[in-house]
Amino acid sequence: MAWDFETDPEYQKKLDWADEFVREEVEPLDYVFAHQHFVPLDDTRRKIIDPLKDEVRRQGLWATHLGPELGGQGYGQLKLALLNEILGRSLWASIVFGCQAPDTGNAEIIAHYGTPEQKQRYLQPLLDGEMFSSYSMTEPHAGADPTLFKTRAVKDGDEWVINGWKYFSSNAKTASFLIVMAVTNPDVSPYKGMSMFLVPTDSPGISIERNVGLWGEALNEGSHALIHYEDVRVPEDALLGGEGQAFVIAQTRLGGGRIHHAMRTIGMAQKAVDMMCERALSRETAGSILADKQFVQGYIADSYAQLIQFRLFVLYTAWEIDKYNDYKRVRKDIAVAKVVMPTVLHDIAWRAMQLHGALGTTNEMPFFGMIHGAAVMGLADGPTEVHKVTIARQLLRDYRPTDGMWPTEWIPGKIDAAKAKFAEYLEHEVGNL
Ligand SMILES: Cc1cc2nc3c(=O)[nH]c(=O)nc-3n(C[C@H](O)[C@H](O)[C@H](O)COP(=O)(O)OP(=O)(O)OC[C@H]3O[C@@H](n4cnc5c(N)ncnc54)[C@H](O)[C@@H]3O)c2cc1C
Repeated sequence: MAWDFETDPEYQKKLDWADEFVREEVEPLDYVFAHQHFVPLDDTRRKIIDPLKDEVRRQGLWATHLGPELGGQGYGQLKLALLNEILGRSLWASIVFGCQAPDTGNAEIIAHYGTPEQKQRYLQPLLDGEMFSSYSMTEPHAGADPTLFKTRAVKDGDEWVINGWKYFSSNAKTASFLIVMAVTNPDVSPYKGMSMFLVPTDSPGISIERNVGLWGEALNEGSHALIHYEDVRVPEDALLGGEGQAFVIAQTRLGGGRIHHAMRTIGMAQKAVDMMCERALSRETAGSILADKQFVQGYIADSYAQLIQFRLFVLYTAWEIDKYNDYKRVRKDIAVAKVVMPTVLHDIAWRAMQLHGALGTTNEMPFFGMIHGAAVMGLADGPTEVHKVTIARQLLRDYRPTDGMWPTEWIPGKIDAAKAKFAEYLEHEVGNL
């Protein structure tokens, strides 16, 4: 019976190394180079960060989400989950380990659907960590429902001409290229009429109108671009995959991206639990330390219970992806992880913030960032509500309506059926009375 919760000792050694390496060498980067993890390296940062990346490569932990043919280790999603929960503690960590979103998802679809030329031009530098990419799908008027997208790509001779607006194209301002989803055939269903294009960011006709910031960032100095594509010309071979394949490609990309966010969220929530426990043991009020108060014990117990359920479920889902190698088959469970993730992070970060009193609400502690991160997790890669719809639809597929007037579990019906099943014995019993 194969049902095992142990990490093999060899890999556990690597995780132990990663744990210490992230704590000692990588987390400090978050404080000296905040918000610069998606900015191409200048000389100063290169001097610090290149040797760290080299160390990760030497340990065999570079780009572990990828198979060996793409420069990764082929460890699979379960091992990646165990690593990602360590990396989730730091914003710089996934860059130093070569597995940062959105580049991982973008690399995955180029690996899957790209031509050899596209792979050489875009994939290799992405895998080497020398280039950033941006995924340009959401539009200002529509996000959760991609069938409403209007950006058009029209064939003109041997070129495609792209026109439209895209919103929340993360990291576009520092990316070398964009993956743009556009309508190529408005006369068929949107599911078959949209295509993906690989578009260099410096193509004439591309203008970033705003760099939308998240809460707390300076206005127009964020990293989520509102982009105007105006008569942007790309050659025929900029098409990624076949014409009309955008939806299929998007699903391939988002499945992996969602579960990777969930893996990193475990690390962030664990950090909040650690801070909560430290505070509970350190702060004294009303005659005892916080850890002795039952409310506080409740916060700690609830937080651990939420986190451990979430963690086990994410690890299980990662295991399923490795087992079936088919995101479609695991879609329901990926959606469950996506739906649960914001609540788990929000609740735990909120309790940890509360236990830190006024200090917890300041910009000298990370709690509000985590709570805001939880809100973002409820939207990025699709809103919670839409994922709940997916879960329900997938579940309902395994059920059928009842044949008769009453539910299958209607107790009078069950009694009649049970009596009929054992009639012979029941009559005998009655006869013996
Ligand atoms: C930090 C961040 C980074 C992002 N990065 C990228 C990126 O790199 N590239 C990219 O293309 N996009 C990106 N996005 C955009 C993201 O994919 C969209 O925000 C998401 O798909 C929702 O679209 P919307 O914001 O237009 O919301 P809408 O589609 O307007 O939905 C708004 C709300 O309506 C409700 N709702 C919507 N549909 C349903 C439904 N079917 N049933 C019930 N309720 C519903 C939900 O409450 C939802 O939150 C990013 C978003 C965030 C927050």
